[in-house]
Formats: sequence, structure tokens, C-alpha cells
Amino acid sequence: SKRCLIAGNWKMNGLLQEARDFIAAFGSNPAPESVEIALMPPFTLLHPMSAQLAEMQIELGAQNVYYEDKGAFTGSICPLMLRDAGCHYVILGHSERRSIIGESNAQIRSKLNASWLHGLEPILCIGETLEQRERGITNMVLAEQLAVLKGAPKNAPLTIAYEPVWAIGTGVTATKEQVTETHAFVHEELTRLGHDCRVLYGGSVNPGNAEELLSCPGVEGALVGGASLKADSFMQIVKAAI
Ligand code: 13P
Repeated sequence: SKRCLIAGNWKMNGLLQEARDFIAAFGSNPAPESVEIALMPPFTLLHPMSAQLAEMQIELGAQNVYYEDKGAFTGSICPLMLRDAGCHYVILGHSERRSIIGESNAQIRSKLNASWLHGLEPILCIGETLEQRERGITNMVLAEQLAVLKGAPKNAPLTIAYEPVWAIGTGVTATKEQVTETHAFVHEELTRLGHDCRVLYGGSVNPGNAEELLSCPGVEGALVGGASLKADSFMQIVKAAI
């Protein structure tokens, strides 16, 4: 069976001192057996945090990757660099990259392939905007985003994060009914595509709502933004998953 994953996406937050403070505060907690913990700090903190997170049995991940192996791609980071820094995971297709950077499903597909080639486990983010939900096209949008998995190797390591865009950083979470219904659709779609992988929920997960969200059928963990920046609130979310 699948082990629950609680992953913290720090987004563009975190200086060296904050990383040290986080590790010091979090380190006193024993790692639970039943829950996997992962942290995705910005690129600059991957190497500095790598050894200590490994000791604490927290997996390391990046928030993005480029799909070329190496060469003249100024400003880009390749999968091998992430492996070199100790990463197991890489977040792909986060809604902030789709909407702000303009990342396309085609680019995300290239990044999936490059990640798999170098032994990274992608956390593929999908999610509809409020406008799309109101128009009743949520499932269509999610199916389109999941279609990047067509023809992908069936045994490739993969985690999906369903993050409704309207719930990200807004304090608004999807209701239990919405989460249950949408996760059921995502699992169905994944089965159709030949993938049996974990599906996380993301969007304003906090210590107060984590238990309820994680108890929804088909939710196998959480991708946490804001509440992962503080060791104590992140730990409370981990505890809610036990
Ligand atoms: P918040 O938890 O801050 O809403 O962010 C969610 C998210 O985008 C995680 O990837």
C-alpha cells in the first residue's frame, strides 16, 4: 500500500539562517514510521540542507527542473544537478509556473522524461482555476493536464498533487466533498492511463484543516506551501497524517 507523503513546498522563500532554524526546531521530533516527509526548498538551499535532512529521514526535492542534460542554458538547473544535491523529488507543473512563467503541458512532458531518465520522482501538479470550476470544466482541465502521462513508462516513479488554483495561498480550501469527488476522478483517470500512484491534496493546508483533508478517500498526502515554512506548523500537519 502507498505510504502517505507530507511535502513542504517553500516556493521562493528561505535564507540559509531560516533553513538552519527550521532544521533545529524540526530535528527534535522523531520521524514517524507511517508518514513520509519531504521538503522542497529553493535551489540555493538544496546542498546546504541535504545532509541534515537525510539524517532526519526527510526526503529532499526541488521545485522545478530544466529538461536538457547540460550546456548553454544560462540560468537553468538540470536533473543531474538535483541528484547531485541529494534530491529524490522534483515538483513539476506547479500552477504558479504554469500561470506566471507560462509553462506548457508540452514542456512539462519534457521535464517528466528528463526527470525519470535521471532517477528523480516527479510530483506532477494539476488543478483548475476558479473560473474553470465555475464553468463546470474541472474534470476536462485535469484530464488535459494528466494527458502528459500518455505513453510514459508504467513503472516510472510518480506522485500527483491536486491543487485547485483557487485554494492556493488564499486560505480557502476545497470542501471534503469537492476533494473526495475530484480525487476519485483523478484516480480514475490515472488508472485509465496505466498509473497507480499517490495523489496528494494541496491548497491552504494548515494544522487546523489537515486531519479533515487527509481523511478524504483518495487523498494520500499533502503538498503544503505557507504552513511548511515553520517547523511547528509543518510538524503538526505531519502528525495529522499519522
Ligand atoms: P499554500 O499551502 O500556501 O496554499 O500553497 C499550496 C501550494 O501551492 C503547494 O505547492
